[in-house]
Amino acid sequence: FAAFDADDRLQWANSSFRAALGLQADEFPTWAEMMRLSRQRGCGPVIDVPDFEAWLASTLGRRGKRSYRAIESRYRDGRWVLMTETCLPNGGMLCVGTDVTNFFVAGRELREARDDAIKAAVTDELTQLANRRSFAAQLEDWLREPGHGFGLVLLDIDHFKRINDQWGHKVGDAVLVAFAGVLRSLIRRDDVAARWGGEEFALLLREHEPQRLLALLERLLAAVREMTPVGRLPSLRCSTSAGVVLALPGDSADEMLRRADEALYAAKHAGRDRLQLAPPLG
Ligand code: GH3
Ligand code: MG
Ligand code: MG
Repeated sequence: FAAFDADDRLQWANSSFRAALGLQADEFPTWAEMMRLSRQRGCGPVIDVPDFEAWLASTLGRRGKRSYRAIESRYRDGRWVLMTETCLPNGGMLCVGTDVTNFFVAGRELREARDDAIKAAVTDELTQLANRRSFAAQLEDWLREPGHGFGLVLLDIDHFKRINDQWGHKVGDAVLVAFAGVLRSLIRRDDVAARWGGEEFALLLREHEPQRLLALLERLLAAVREMTPVGRLPSLRCSTSAGVVLALPGDSADEMLRRADEALYAAKHAGRDRLQLAPPLG
């Protein structure tokens, strides 16, 4: 058993959980730090990927997005563990791992393949952010939750075609990956960052106070300006424009996206590298 707080830091874990993950009794890392430590110490789940940090970033993007999920994985000690993650009302998460080594053995490979397929179906391959389909589904979920104001943001990298033309498509791809990293680093666990398509991205942010929402996005735009996405090309810089809309009572996904798109268009028209908040209706 383990409990994480809203910042995804371990609050408490019993000795079995600590042993399985290779944690000392006095260690209270964040979930991401915990996964790095476990890996260094030869404990925890087997993570058989070429780029561990990319895996971590992608997994963080899905963690805590559903109120409940269960993941079956093989651990380095040879056991199979079914880990459930239950989101708590305070933003924290309860994890319960069950040793299922000797249970449900039949069909295990099929379930692994299924889980990989589900992951691929909701993930953008290049940036490892949520894809458009997953974003649309989460937007519908957020609209169904009563009483939760939130912001939706559409972002479009400025003059991206020039970046491709000047430096080539590969460098363009590296810019998209770096841009995704900036989005990921500035949002909270229960926010959503997605690749909407091409050089367009979308965010769902659990912030309905306009000033705070805009302040967060100004930090994001500043971070994009500061970004040197390709180390060997320090002169390669970019900026983004963003259209921002706040959910209104009775809002629909189509209506929110339409208003965000209009605001984005206005931001482009006003000179790019800026935010535009969609005007309130009426
Ligand atoms: P604006 O400031 O008006 O948004 O200008 P822009 O050049 O960013 O806009 P435009 O929509 O004309 O160009 C988008 C470009 O993005 C065109 C397309 O080739 C490029 N693009 C789309 N997807 C990818 C991708 O996955 N990788 C790379 N490298 N380029 C992509
Ligand atoms: Mg575009
Ligand atoms: Mg663009």
